[in-house]
Amino acid sequence: MLVNVGARLAQEPVPGVASADELLQRAVVHFERSDPAAAREIATVVAAGDDPVLQARALALLVRCHLVLDEHVEVLALAREALDVCWRIGDRASEAIVHATVARSLLFTSDAVSAMEEIMTALEVAEASGDLAARMLATGTAGTVYYYLEQFDHCLEFCERAAEMARILGDEVTNGAMIDTMACANMCLATAARAAGDEEAAEAISAVAQGQSREAIVIARRLGHRRHEVIALGNLAESLSFSGRAEEALELLTGWQIDPERDSQSIITHIRDTHGSVCLASGRYDEAIGHLRAAMASAESKASAMVSAEHLADAYERNGDLRGALDTYKLFHALSKEVASEAAQRSASIAVVRMETAQAKAAAEEERARVAALQHANQELLRKSLEDPLTGLGNRRHLDQLMAGGLAGHAILLVDVDHFKRVNDEHSHLVGDGVLRLLAGLLRSACRGDDVVVRFGGEEFAVLLSGSDLDNAVTTAERLRAEVAAHDWAAVAPGLTVTVSIGLALGDESTDPGVVLARADERLYAAKRAGRDRVRGPSPVP
Ligand code: GH3
Ligand code: MG
Ligand code: MG
Repeated sequence: MLVNVGARLAQEPVPGVASADELLQRAVVHFERSDPAAAREIATVVAAGDDPVLQARALALLVRCHLVLDEHVEVLALAREALDVCWRIGDRASEAIVHATVARSLLFTSDAVSAMEEIMTALEVAEASGDLAARMLATGTAGTVYYYLEQFDHCLEFCERAAEMARILGDEVTNGAMIDTMACANMCLATAARAAGDEEAAEAISAVAQGQSREAIVIARRLGHRRHEVIALGNLAESLSFSGRAEEALELLTGWQIDPERDSQSIITHIRDTHGSVCLASGRYDEAIGHLRAAMASAESKASAMVSAEHLADAYERNGDLRGALDTYKLFHALSKEVASEAAQRSASIAVVRMETAQAKAAAEEERARVAALQHANQELLRKSLEDPLTGLGNRRHLDQLMAGGLAGHAILLVDVDHFKRVNDEHSHLVGDGVLRLLAGLLRSACRGDDVVVRFGGEEFAVLLSGSDLDNAVTTAERLRAEVAAHDWAAVAPGLTVTVSIGLALGDESTDPGVVLARADERLYAAKRAGRDRVRGPSPVP
């Protein structure tokens, strides 16, 4: 496979060794040019790389390639892997793209209701991602899912929004595809209106559908997108035929030149079947039989052979060939049984993969919740380990952490209660505790918001003054001391007075925070020796 990739790359105009990023871009270009096989080869190489960001995007692209290649079990299996990487790195845009692609796959392999559940997730994640391309894909897929659920008003609304986003992004392919889906939805509404007897509405809606199909044809031609052109052309022919303009419809279909070089079997079958159906609707039974037999002969799958067989049986019957009608109907019946059984088998294998995916997702979510709970508990523990339970202030460990960043430009105050033993002895330990709590609040409210007060130990506090020079620190220390002394402590216990002594040091005194702290401690004891209820700093304080 690598050789193939190399050969392909050699054809590219960009010389030199491609980076994974460039490779991925090339894969996207191949995908957009309707070459999913080439895109898949290159994206596989990128997905095997070790950059999870590129890996997530490559896997999302691979999932889309598998869808286009009709490999639905692979879509689901790889989606699981892709989502794992997306969740791990938080790539919401790729996550939304994967969900939208899975929704589209479920539409073909499972039921429209499962697809609906998936597309709701895709829409939610896409909105959260804010990524316009992801939102466009999810919105457009929602439109398609609504089409299959036969909720045509919703279908039109979502397709219109997706087309709008596609135009903003300059994504002509998606714009054209959305306009085409809107034409189909309108034709279903027109058919319903006719069945309800509202011929006027039927005609008006069919006219809108015709306009949209014409627009889709123009866009597909401009892009050289044959497949989209044929589909839009077939739709236009059918809506013209619906409006009684079979001649114009047949002219369109006859004008289409099949090019076996460029047109796939499915395109050829589609155009033949449409041709036959339009002939059938306009009473040209012989011609219809010719086209439908040709369609059956070129059918690339049992499902498309089955569709043409049903039309052909109808044509034989209306042409009065009851033998031919019965034989073809039997064939149709046999084909439909085979198609149903294949679909059931596919649904079963899809269901297994889906269940595994759901289990993996639940396990991943459980693991995430467990990690989050652990992180929360750790943070709680960490917070507690830095906190003093009595006063709610930070503790010594908290101060150590702060000081580890250096004290340059800061000042530190060590504040110690004078004769605190007496408070305990003369009042009670409980009153002592109350004093410490009150003091903590006093110190806290007397400081600025970016200053930090911690309980240094026992009846000793430390205040870290940020961005403080000597004058500033002395003024603050003096204010703290005076406020403590002036506080009405008698309200706590009759006769109680409380004063503090303060030692002050400047962070610039040493590059070692331990030395600064030791200086503050020496000065605290100098203040005690000098009689307490005072401040001592690096120079004599008046
Ligand atoms: P000085 O003026 O020299 O600082 O005298 P002091 O009595 O305050 O100093 P000393 O260090 O001798 O005594 C401190 C007292 O603080 C001793 C201890 O029982 C008390 N203490 C320490 N932690 C607490 C506490 O959490 N609650 C209470 N109530 N008392 C405490
Ligand atoms: Mg003391
Ligand atoms: Mg002390």
